[in-house]
Amino acid sequence: MTITSEIIALNEQYGARNYLPLPIVISRAEGVWVEDPEGKKYLDMLSCYSALNQGHRHPKIIQALKDQADKVTLTSRAFHNDQLGLFLEMVSKLTREDKVLPMNTGAEAVETALKAARRWGYEAKKITPDQAEIIVCSGNFHGRTLAAVSMSSEPAYKRSFGAFAPGFKIIPYGDIEAFRNAITDNTAALLIEPIQGEAGIVIPPDGFLKQAGQICRENNVLLLADEIQTGFGRTGKMFACDWEDVTPDIFILGKALGGGVFPISAIAANRKIMDLFEPGSHGSTFGGNPLACAVAIAAMKVTMEEHLPDRSLELGRFLVNELREINNPLIKEIRGKGLFVGMELRVKARPYCELLKEKGVLCKETHDNVIRFAPPLIITKEDLQWGIDKIKQALSKE
Ligand code: PLP
Repeated sequence: MTITSEIIALNEQYGARNYLPLPIVISRAEGVWVEDPEGKKYLDMLSCYSALNQGHRHPKIIQALKDQADKVTLTSRAFHNDQLGLFLEMVSKLTREDKVLPMNTGAEAVETALKAARRWGYEAKKITPDQAEIIVCSGNFHGRTLAAVSMSSEPAYKRSFGAFAPGFKIIPYGDIEAFRNAITDNTAALLIEPIQGEAGIVIPPDGFLKQAGQICRENNVLLLADEIQTGFGRTGKMFACDWEDVTPDIFILGKALGGGVFPISAIAANRKIMDLFEPGSHGSTFGGNPLACAVAIAAMKVTMEEHLPDRSLELGRFLVNELREINNPLIKEIRGKGLFVGMELRVKARPYCELLKEKGVLCKETHDNVIRFAPPLIITKEDLQWGIDKIKQALSKE
């Protein structure tokens, strides 16, 4: 038995079976490379679903973690800490929103945005009590909490988890007329991923987000952008909304905000929305803790100092062009923005992810037929080229 197989057996014996990981154990990591207990190296082309945009264990982020761990790690919001304000200011400046509310995970930030939108609906828009509706899109992925699965269109995420939260209306993703027609006097918000990640890197038609923003304004409906996966440079801009110069009413952020080191999420919104929260209305024991804030400040600095959005744009174009040049009937479509790329196959994607793992490239299928390629944004062209060569070999089963 190898160390890898022992560790996998332990995980399987004691863990719930809510994931189907590839049979690899990662025991060390640095930059874009990870290593298994036997010392084999792999190129990480998944980046923990874009939580590792800055790469594994970025020295500046790890230093911030260590420095803060030597001072204070947790205070609760019963008291102030000296990192929170600096974190809030930085997110506010980056998003151009007035105020920020910190949480821990993406799903919690989504829940926070839903609560903010409903409260705004009742208290500012004057929607009849308990009748507020949030419009969402088919194929959405906003996390795994009950509210998030309540608005999901995916049966596998919902089976035997009812009763579900009411107040969601699903429209086809990217269909502007469907959105216009779905709005009623009770509509508080449209919640949308600017590009759908879990659905298989699905990009809406050009101009959709801008038009949706306009329709929101005309109808006094909030636009909530879930940038948990697309934010912090992943699509070649700081935020995917920047592609269409759209400023949503609420930004929902997570994943790379924590620099691949510590979970932290947040919503950012204007004063009129955020001031509807009063003490006692919402919170989280760990939300805004000084360790997470110090790490997030370092993560945002690295994102800006190393021009990660620009790197993503340039290398993303290279990756898409290279993949499009592969002449293989298995490939149905290559789509992507920045280093956020989906390869849709005509066959099941899982065996190809397993094959790529054997060749030293880590990626994961999303739904049945799509492989998502989303390496850390710090990747060099040489390392990316190495990965592309392996992808080519795997597809031709060399
Ligand atoms: N929203 C989007 C768009 C996501 O991609 C994810 C996670 O993949 C989430 C929300 C949920 O985030 P978390 O897993 O941190 O709760």
